[in-house]
Amino acid sequence: MNKKTIRDLSFKGKRVFVRVDYNVPMDKAGNITDDTRISATLPTLRYLLEQGASLILGAHFGRPKNGPAPEFSLAPVATHLSSLLGKEVKFAADCVGPVAEAAAQALQPGEVLMLENLRFHSEEEKNDPVFAKGLAALADVAVNDAFGVSHRAHASVEGITKFLPAVAGFLMEKELDFLGRAVTNPERPYVAIIGGAKVSDKIGVIANLLTKVDALLIGGGMANTFIAAQGFSVGKSLVEPDKIPLAKDLIAQAKTSGVKLLLPSDVVVAEKFAADAANRVVAVDAIGPEEMALDIGPASSAAFAEALANAKTIVWNGPMGVFEMDAFAKGTEFVAQAVAHSQAVSIVGGGDSVAALEKVGLADQITHISTGGGASLEFLEGKVLPGVAALADK
Ligand code: ADP
Ligand code: MG
Repeated sequence: MNKKTIRDLSFKGKRVFVRVDYNVPMDKAGNITDDTRISATLPTLRYLLEQGASLILGAHFGRPKNGPAPEFSLAPVATHLSSLLGKEVKFAADCVGPVAEAAAQALQPGEVLMLENLRFHSEEEKNDPVFAKGLAALADVAVNDAFGVSHRAHASVEGITKFLPAVAGFLMEKELDFLGRAVTNPERPYVAIIGGAKVSDKIGVIANLLTKVDALLIGGGMANTFIAAQGFSVGKSLVEPDKIPLAKDLIAQAKTSGVKLLLPSDVVVAEKFAADAANRVVAVDAIGPEEMALDIGPASSAAFAEALANAKTIVWNGPMGVFEMDAFAKGTEFVAQAVAHSQAVSIVGGGDSVAALEKVGLADQITHISTGGGASLEFLEGKVLPGVAALADK
């Protein structure tokens, strides 16, 4: 990796602003229902503390629209972090200004301070330079361990680096290592699986992957647009008619570049979008006018699994069907098994794809689960992420 990390700096006696992604799911009572994102930052935090730093943690939570709102407070997150770290985590009721400055000034080496929700200030998302300078004033160094927000040029991610030296934390380093290898130097055969609801969400990724992979497998709702592009009727399926010409182009592009593009040959259809709807398996040229395709069929699953069997690099983003309903989860499960059992370096991104893997208990068989859905997609599109570009070069 060509970016400096926390291994490259000395932190003794330094105040370190660490941008973390603590946008965790929380129930109505304020209980954190999944703390993966918090525990994932512990190696970075512990390392910095061991090196003699004091930590000032910045994060966002939810989508507050009009300034401070108690339901979007990070205070419960600070409490939870404290129990995970096994040490006190102080809390500042604002992320900039006198309250934050006094709390940061008072920090001793080895102490941790969590700032209130960065997005209580609209300047955060506007990348306002005065606000960024206010954050920078709290610390001597900036560390970015929030890959999932690094595709956005926000003040705590990008703006702050204009005022402080900035390096990657361990989580960020891991993301850049795995995704970077897939983008620049993948071991072959390199097979990508793209699914999920809509083509329009992932056009850029599909187009870029087509220039890199040996095989591209397309399933999920977006496959319907490709099925339509082949001239078949898709009935009442989720389809994007305005994207059919693009799907045709991508099919042609795959042909000229010699990339194996695998589309479903059969699908599971139902007349209702419901878990208990009667369903049947049909070939893609036999979808009835009242039917909708909600999963890839067994022949498609088998073909996809075969394409994955000898892959050396696999990138997967997007479920193969409506996996939330058991009747339409089989394609996703089958592909998850194939990815999990392959010898490939496997990289999975996307909130729903990761949820699907967890549902079938295969998440720990994946080489790298990317924490940032949108950020990992942009990375795979070949885009430069502003939060990454802003880190110091090696
Ligand atoms: P990810 O979060 O992994 O990037 P997406 O958000 O793009 O994935 O897509 C996931 C959603 O797509 C799921 O809610 C799933 O139910 C839906 N989906 C998958 N296949 C279909 C389909 N054939 N018809 C309608 N929705 C689908
Ligand atoms: Mg999703």
